[in-house]
Amino acid sequence: MRIRLVRKGNGLTKARLPGLRGTWALACRLPALSRLDRTSLDTIKTPRRDPGSEPTRVPIRPRPDTKETRPMARPMLQFTRLDQKTPAKRDAETRRRDFDEIYTGFSTEAAGDQASRCEQCGIPFCHLHCPLANNIPDWLMLTAAGRLEEAYALSSSTNSMPEICGRICPQDRLCEGLCVLEQSRHRSVTIGAVERYITDTAWENGWVTPLRPVRELSQSVGIVGGGPGGLAAAGQLRKMGYQVTVYDRHDRFGGLLMYGIPGFKLEKDVVQRRIDHLAASGVTLKAGFEVGRDATLADLRQKHDAVLIATGVYKARALGLAGAETLQGVIKALDYLITANKVGLGDRVPAFEEGTLNAQGKKVVVIGGGDTAMDCLRTAIRQGASSVTCLYRRDRANMPGSQREVDNAIDEGVTFEWLSAPEALLGTGTVSGVQASRMYLGMADGSGRQTPKPLPGSGFTVEADLVIEALGFEPENMPTTLGDPDLAVGRDGTIGVDANKMSSIEGVFAAGDIVRGASLVVWAIRDGRDAAEGIRRYLETKAAGVAGSARAS
Ligand SMILES: Cc1cc2nc3c(=O)[nH]c(=O)nc-3n(C[C@H](O)[C@H](O)[C@H](O)COP(=O)(O)OP(=O)(O)OC[C@H]3O[C@@H](n4cnc5c(N)ncnc54)[C@H](O)[C@@H]3O)c2cc1C
Ligand code: SF4
Repeated sequence: MRIRLVRKGNGLTKARLPGLRGTWALACRLPALSRLDRTSLDTIKTPRRDPGSEPTRVPIRPRPDTKETRPMARPMLQFTRLDQKTPAKRDAETRRRDFDEIYTGFSTEAAGDQASRCEQCGIPFCHLHCPLANNIPDWLMLTAAGRLEEAYALSSSTNSMPEICGRICPQDRLCEGLCVLEQSRHRSVTIGAVERYITDTAWENGWVTPLRPVRELSQSVGIVGGGPGGLAAAGQLRKMGYQVTVYDRHDRFGGLLMYGIPGFKLEKDVVQRRIDHLAASGVTLKAGFEVGRDATLADLRQKHDAVLIATGVYKARALGLAGAETLQGVIKALDYLITANKVGLGDRVPAFEEGTLNAQGKKVVVIGGGDTAMDCLRTAIRQGASSVTCLYRRDRANMPGSQREVDNAIDEGVTFEWLSAPEALLGTGTVSGVQASRMYLGMADGSGRQTPKPLPGSGFTVEADLVIEALGFEPENMPTTLGDPDLAVGRDGTIGVDANKMSSIEGVFAAGDIVRGASLVVWAIRDGRDAAEGIRRYLETKAAGVAGSARAS
């Protein structure tokens, strides 16, 4: 069969098999492409415009010199020769003393080598299971070939903040967990670390430039919430030329990226860099502005042509034990993490200084098994707690948090009591311990997860002078909070949206955790980008004078 190489408009090189089109054609990647040198690439043919005519040759535009050293192009499929190597992790003894990220980045050489392990699968599960449908095999191939600027252009075409996803996506549950190499026991391609490397290199080399819309549009969009969902939407809308204002009740932007997730997973200058980039692109950022207090949703609708709600979910699930609301020393996870992050950013927080939200010297018990619980445990270690214990009612295999984070927590000195559920909080005035019971996993419930049941007579006590509740989050009452009873929400309090991400109120859209419930950064980014697209459709229709028909059926 004759295979034709085509250079796509986005800089990618694909193999096209006669008779196959669309995704089938895209799926037919050849590892041999990565062996092509620059001269060969310069002669790659352009796609045929006229099916009958021969493709013409076009020279590839020379790229300006960049600071990065350009390694030789590597052949792909090197998993047979190279073992998986993750970036170096700082040793537990050192990292438990500070809030710096625990992984160092890849060197150019290591990133290229690890990217070259990829098999270039015909059906790439990494890509299919990425919430953003990131074109992973192609940017791995470009990285292995040393074509980093193109790798960045490709990776940032589907992701508004690849360096952030590279750091904090639970890749072991998404792309890396489903990588064919992982499934065939060769250990996955280190996709997240390569993604981080590509984008950090792009920042260092000045390839990330402010967004410049082709034309400015007069219509404006107000976004409530400056977390990953709101910021991703802001970037996309600004690129389209809309006038965008983001409102956030906090004093800094980034949502949980700034104030929830600790610095040892995501350093704050990495988040701030993205926010500064949006500001430099012409997005107006209004901090300390709470919708519901400083303006109602109706006010924003008056002011803007469309509004996006991306407020996240912040109501902590209650422990439901006597004393949880009254005993001193029983605190909520997010109060604790926000404080720790503010202190890390140099703010003075009285509750930290007086010790209420500070684990130093304390016996800490964290209740829960998700990302939030892991972050509290590891923050407490870094604050100098005398002991840190996690109580989780299921076993390790059934923890919702990333297994990689559990490993990191164990290395840093956290004790896990799996299959253990709290039954009572002990102490008078101030908490002194948690009475808990051992559990076993019974029949699966409607969601397919086995239900934990107490083992009779298995009670035990863990001493504690700080108990952190980390049982997850639910939406606040949004119609009340935003002052608009017309906003329809589901039984769980999430905002209902149509296929365009439009809510029950025309021109008001929603995205991120407030639509799906507590989820992941990558999903918030996906929603934000989708909402931007829905808003564009709506505003274009509105501008054409047929607003009513903009709603998706
Ligand atoms: C402790 C913790 C750790 C996590 N770790 C990870 C992780 O490692 N990886 C991962 O993928 N996900 C993680 N998550 C989940 C992830 O952070 C969220 O899914 C994601 O941030 C949701 O984005 P969002 O934009 O919808 O909301 P948020 O990030 O919550 O942002 C919402 C913003 O809206 C603002 N806001 C709310 N109400 C108003 C109002 N009325 N007026 C103005 N502004 C308002 C808030 O101040 C906030 O800035 C973690 C979550 C927590 C709590
Ligand atoms: S699944 Fe793994 S091996 Fe296959 S294309 Fe994706 S990263 Fe490469």
